[in-house]
Amino acid sequence: MEVVAARLRASGVLGEALAARDASDEEIERVHTARYLELVKREVGALDGPRYLSTGDVIVDPSSLAVARRAAGGAIAALDAAVAYGEPVFALVRPPGHHAEARRGMGFCVFNNAAIAARAYRVRYGGRVTIIDFDYHHGNGTQDVAGEGLSYVSTHASPAYPGTGTELERRGEDAIVNVPLPASGIATEAFVAVWERLLREAIAPLRPDALVVSAGFDYVAGDPVGDLGVGVEAAYDLARGIGALARECCGGRVAYVLEGGYAIDALVRSIEEVARASDAAQGDASGAGHAAIPSAVRVQLERAKALM
Ligand SMILES: [Zn+2]
Repeated sequence: MEVVAARLRASGVLGEALAARDASDEEIERVHTARYLELVKREVGALDGPRYLSTGDVIVDPSSLAVARRAAGGAIAALDAAVAYGEPVFALVRPPGHHAEARRGMGFCVFNNAAIAARAYRVRYGGRVTIIDFDYHHGNGTQDVAGEGLSYVSTHASPAYPGTGTELERRGEDAIVNVPLPASGIATEAFVAVWERLLREAIAPLRPDALVVSAGFDYVAGDPVGDLGVGVEAAYDLARGIGALARECCGGRVAYVLEGGYAIDALVRSIEEVARASDAAQGDASGAGHAAIPSAVRVQLERAKALM
């Protein structure tokens, strides 16, 4: 994270860095059970070196509770700033969050940063929030806590960790929309086209008041953990589409919260693309070729559209 931040600072992207803050127990417990928070406190508090959290595949060390609290609070601060400025704000935080369920951390995730920010938004401002998740992996944790004003829309490789992510359902005014992508990879153009359709056909109809993006860049070609074969330039088109929708539906209120992305160069370049797109004036759609979308993916997009 320090290397990524240093490189972004050197390229001028961190010109307007905002301070993060710690999430309180109350803010964390809007997403996680009090029992799970106690478990994290107890297990991390007893550490004198690294080990696994008992609930899943998350390596923690004595600093992990403080770092995870700061990551969740950073996501809240980013969304608060997005509300204040009416423009996108990026939370450069780790550990990631979207695999953390109400009752258990897993997949490197201790607390669900994006969901905690969304719940904080609801308490402070009311309204509905949609979490957009383009990480390589399915955000089982975010899906677990969706509903009650929180919708979740995800693309992810399948079959892949954590093995979830086929549901398409309405929960009252909220929705769970999953579009699995072939784990063998997808053309950059098709990846962008899928998201252009989801923004228009699934997310806009939900009429969200704010957007939180689970921004995982492990979909980029060469990522050691993910890798959908997608180019770093995709982040520009994704962010441009998200920014346009945010201006249209929610006063520009969008917070990006870092999830995966384990190749430092791809991570830096993707975040630069998000910043560049967010600074750009409104543009036309990318012109991505919808014909490039694999037919099985297209079927799921049609089903998602029909649900709305
Ligand atoms: Zn991931």
